[in-house]
Amino acid sequence: MNLNNLEKTLKDEPAFRLRQAKEMIYKNLINDWSEATNFSLDWREKLNQECPLTITAETFKSEDDSLKILLTLTDGLKVESVLMRHGDGRNTVCVSSAVGCPLGCLFCATGKMGFKRNLNAPEMVEQVLYFSRYLKKMDERVSNVVFMGMGEPFLNYDHVLEAVRILNAKDGLNIGARHISISTAGIVPGIKKLSDEPLQVNLAISLHAPNNNLRSKIMPIDKKYRIEMIMAAVDKYIEKTNRKVMFEYIMIQNVNDGDEEARELAMLINKMPKPLCFVNLIAYNATAVFKPSKPETIKRFKQILEKKDIEVAERYRFGRGIKAACGQLAS
Ligand code: SAH
Ligand code: SF4
Repeated sequence: MNLNNLEKTLKDEPAFRLRQAKEMIYKNLINDWSEATNFSLDWREKLNQECPLTITAETFKSEDDSLKILLTLTDGLKVESVLMRHGDGRNTVCVSSAVGCPLGCLFCATGKMGFKRNLNAPEMVEQVLYFSRYLKKMDERVSNVVFMGMGEPFLNYDHVLEAVRILNAKDGLNIGARHISISTAGIVPGIKKLSDEPLQVNLAISLHAPNNNLRSKIMPIDKKYRIEMIMAAVDKYIEKTNRKVMFEYIMIQNVNDGDEEARELAMLINKMPKPLCFVNLIAYNATAVFKPSKPETIKRFKQILEKKDIEVAERYRFGRGIKAACGQLAS
């Protein structure tokens, strides 16, 4: 698929043509321009040449009904994307924003593979479109999108926001901004920029440690963007947007899951002027280096946070059987 040339291809046509084309792509979810019978045969052929709609992907299905794809981009590189089906009509797509990631977090499979390149907006939208087409057959739709696949979204800020706008647009996939989340390892300029966007998207921060000493050992980016800087940016974000911020905290055995870390984390969050924050404790998906915390350790950690009045949830990540759970995404 290649939508980069769509507007250019139709630029000399009356405006309604572009409108019709978008309707075909995002509403009718066609797989090929030959299905666009409201276009002349010549145009269908031309569009198939200039803006092909075929998505090339390998699929892997897991027992919990999540579906991973390995999508081939026009230059032959591959990215992963995951559909999580919640069973109640909600369907979340976890989108990759890059091939690989330059930040090299020690616990993350994507970090291990290094960085190839950032994706452009159509390449991110394409991942969602693939699952939209798939779900259409079951009369369902993609209800939520999270930028939690491969890559650091705020190192590709403009393209990610462009993708968000297409996903959100009435003449795009029409997914509510409140149902779109961006997760960052703490790129402070990105948090600041997002504060000024007139968009109601959700912000998630991958914190994973309550102090710089520990955090810098597992997330090298902490040397550049310290926890204090992140918290200050989050505070400003909340002040400007009045929106809740999620702190993600993966539970890694004997690394960040002790009582002392729980207390420190509570203190860090309780210091925030506005308490519009909540913590998601995430069961760590084992990689070669680390092990997940024991369930009883997670429970204990959670109780310590709750006693300090922190809103906290425990999250299970889908798709373990197919190595599709976040942080296991490495093509
Ligand atoms: N680069 C961004 C977004 C992609 S990573 C970020 O780091 O926020 C999406 C989430 O998966 C992050 O919270 C990341 O820390 C987490 N993650 C990475 N490796 C994981 C693993 N092995 N198990 C569970 N979560 C993991
Ligand atoms: Fe990159 Fe996020 Fe993985 Fe860290 S956790 S290496 S920032 S994708």
